[in-house]
Amino acid sequence: MYYRNLQEDKVVIECNNCEKVYKFQKKYFSIVSDNYCINNTMLQCPNCKNTVYPNTKIEAKKDTSMIRCPYCGSTQIQMVARKWSPLTGFFTNKVDRVCVKCKKKF
Ligand SMILES: [Zn+2]
Ligand SMILES: [Zn+2]
Repeated sequence: MYYRNLQEDKVVIECNNCEKVYKFQKKYFSIVSDNYCINNTMLQCPNCKNTVYPNTKIEAKKDTSMIRCPYCGSTQIQMVARKWSPLTGFFTNKVDRVCVKCKKKF
C-alpha cells in the first residue's frame, strides 16, 4: 500500500496491487506525517484483499506517475535539471517538469 495524503479525518491510501484508492479513518493510524503513516489496525484492500498488518510504515508514493500537466492533463512528464535559476542568478539543483505532450514547463 502507498500513503497518498490526509483529507480531513481520512487517510488516503493507494493499493500497490490494483492501484485503487481508498480512504481510511484517521483513528486507524497511530502516526500520520507528510512522508509516511503507521497503521494501528489491519488494513485490507476491499478489491484485491491486499493486506497491511498493524504497525507497518506505509510510505508515500514517490514516483512521478501521479504528476499531471496542469495545461493538458497528460501524465507523461519529463524531469529536466535546471542548472541555473534566472530568478536568483544562482546555480540550483532544482528540476523543471516538462510535459512531453504540450512541451510546457510547470
Ligand atoms: Zn487492491
Ligand atoms: Zn501538457
